[in-house]
Amino acid sequence: MIDLVFLGPPGAGKGTYAKKLKEILGIPHISTGDIFREAVASGTELGERVKNILDRGELVPDDIVNEVVRERLSRPDCERGFILDGYPRTVDQAKALDEMLEEMGKDLTWSIFFDVPEEVIVQRITNRRICPKCGRIYNLLTSPPKEDNLCDVCKVPLIQREDDKEEVVRKRYKVYMENTFPVIGYYEEKGKLRKIDGTVGLDKVVKEVLRLVDKDQNATRD
Ligand code: AMP
Repeated sequence: MIDLVFLGPPGAGKGTYAKKLKEILGIPHISTGDIFREAVASGTELGERVKNILDRGELVPDDIVNEVVRERLSRPDCERGFILDGYPRTVDQAKALDEMLEEMGKDLTWSIFFDVPEEVIVQRITNRRICPKCGRIYNLLTSPPKEDNLCDVCKVPLIQREDDKEEVVRKRYKVYMENTFPVIGYYEEKGKLRKIDGTVGLDKVVKEVLRLVDKDQNATRD
């Protein structure tokens, strides 16, 4: 069982690392941000409740997020493990997760903190563009589309997520420092925290996570 929590500021690359690692480890990637965005896009009741909160870069109330995660973790594909990305984002959510895991007879493997400075974050996120048709993600600086602002595959104009605009990114970073940074201390005190430099590139970060997880599995086998 590999039960992981990915922590770090918005734009630290958690989603990108998780997408790669879910293939390698064969466990689901659970992003609360993706769940909320999908709910908004499909106009569900949940989507209606959270849309304005997301656009402003604020946090969805703990009770709503906890329920969404509780339901998701109860599905059979989580039995062998999971990667939680973007949750917990407050100490109260971390405590709620502890309770859920206890009920499931699980013990968190690691909470991994991807460390990236604010200015790198702002550069990364404000240059992020998305294809509204296929969801492919580009970065105007590091992985630009071949033709100016057009998706390489769909050829439709790329868009910027409302909450990727600089003003909202700065706000999300502030919200992160106030609410989520304390979660790092919470896991540190429990001896469950590992820190990885999030500026060294996808391949190196993925290797580091695998090294951590592998060491842990070997220790369990011994
Ligand atoms: P993300 O893609 O993880 O940056 O999440 C996008 C947005 O969804 C955040 O800015 C919040 O408004 C909301 N959100 C996602 N996860 C959580 C969470 N664990 N607690 C509260 N709000 C969340």
